[in-house]
Amino acid sequence: MKRLKTVGFYPSFDRSGEPTLDTHYCPGCGHGILHKLITEALVERGIQDRTIIVNPIGCAVFGYYYWDAGNIGAAHGRAQAVATALTRLLPHAIVLCYQGDGDLGAIGFNCTLQAAARGERFATFFVNNASYGMTGGQMAPTTLLGQVTSTTPHGRSAENDGYPLHICEILNQLQAPVYIERCSLADTPRIMKARRAIHKALDLQIEDKGYAFVEFLSPCPTNWATDAVGANQFILETLEKEFPLGCLRDRSSDAHPRPLPPSRPSLNEYFGTSEASDNILSDPNAPEVRFKFAGFGGQGILSLGMVAAEAGRLAGRNTTWFPFYGPEQRGGAAACSVVISGRPIGSPVVDHPDILVCMNRYSYDRFADSVAPGGLILCDTLETINVPPPHQVRRVDVPATELAGQSGAVKAANTVMLAALAWLRVAGLSSAGFLTALESSFKRKPALIPLNRRIFETALEWCKTHLAPPISSPA
Ligand code: SF4
Repeated sequence: MKRLKTVGFYPSFDRSGEPTLDTHYCPGCGHGILHKLITEALVERGIQDRTIIVNPIGCAVFGYYYWDAGNIGAAHGRAQAVATALTRLLPHAIVLCYQGDGDLGAIGFNCTLQAAARGERFATFFVNNASYGMTGGQMAPTTLLGQVTSTTPHGRSAENDGYPLHICEILNQLQAPVYIERCSLADTPRIMKARRAIHKALDLQIEDKGYAFVEFLSPCPTNWATDAVGANQFILETLEKEFPLGCLRDRSSDAHPRPLPPSRPSLNEYFGTSEASDNILSDPNAPEVRFKFAGFGGQGILSLGMVAAEAGRLAGRNTTWFPFYGPEQRGGAAACSVVISGRPIGSPVVDHPDILVCMNRYSYDRFADSVAPGGLILCDTLETINVPPPHQVRRVDVPATELAGQSGAVKAANTVMLAALAWLRVAGLSSAGFLTALESSFKRKPALIPLNRRIFETALEWCKTHLAPPISSPA
């Protein structure tokens, strides 16, 4: 298959399995023009290999089938947050956000505003076609007064729908952005100007000078119920009157590269441990074990999950810890998900845990049925649970609060549960690893270490005499 003109595109677009050179865009759509301008600019600037494009939700969602660069997809409206994270984690990457008016100007507008206010180090290419393209042409924040859309069949009215948002002008109220320009894709001279704006925004990223925002008035013949010529005419005669073209701000000559963020402490430094390298996985074949810890706020649920995750890390596994908070500071529901795996972890969200640790009855009622077949539920016996466990799920009752109370620290029931996990050798982790993780969690309160160590060891002894032998992998 003949290669496309610029090597900024993949040689073929294999979205449907079959190699093709066709994009999914409608004839006359502005996205194709803009994709081409951006990919050519990446190649001309020699930054294709260090560029990450944050793809939107919207008509351009499949951009990652086209751009031959780093690609990442963001949840609807969250591209600017994802781009922020990328620039913080990969300060030498060139990061671009590509978003439409629904994604950027509606659901994602606060993300946009805050990223611009912070002066994040990425370029945003904002496609304004005054409607939600992908979902059928609904009214967008930039829809014109009187414009007919699928949700404003009689035209947008100021009384009912408010006025169009002028995103460039709003961002121009902020201190931090370096460059803001509005362009049009309606004819060749305008496309050439758009090309220059893209290069400018990229140069600012190469020079690490800060936030650049370029808006493109872009034809959408499909949702404007016209053809390619009519769509361009609509931009020239109508859209550009509402959204005047031009450079609103160019502070590039005064902008300076920002200092790199201070290096983050390694996890060993953070936890005060030295047993594991942050970068070395000891057993890439270790199975993935997914945990849910649940109880009330104040029971140390989140800490318990954190310590379990740290035990996994000390054993050289990939780990994630993902908390859930109720609205109350104390006494509300608290839960967290932990994944421990020899392989990279796809998602920290755990819907069907292999191991559920319940510190109250409410958590049992809420999560027990979600445990994966073959899984395990560890329950504190503080509240009676007189229903059988779900089919193919084993339940182990541990008097965690009672044992902790006998040791003089009822709040350390979570330490008892940790000991039970250690005794059961969940995820194949050793008792020593759990204890090290536990002690490191008290780095800032060292006076509590002896007490928790004693409770942990007492609970281990209880487990030896009251529980069945350790379970086998994966749980
Ligand atoms: S619906 Fe509009 S924006 Fe979406 S691909 Fe078609 S022409 Fe382009």
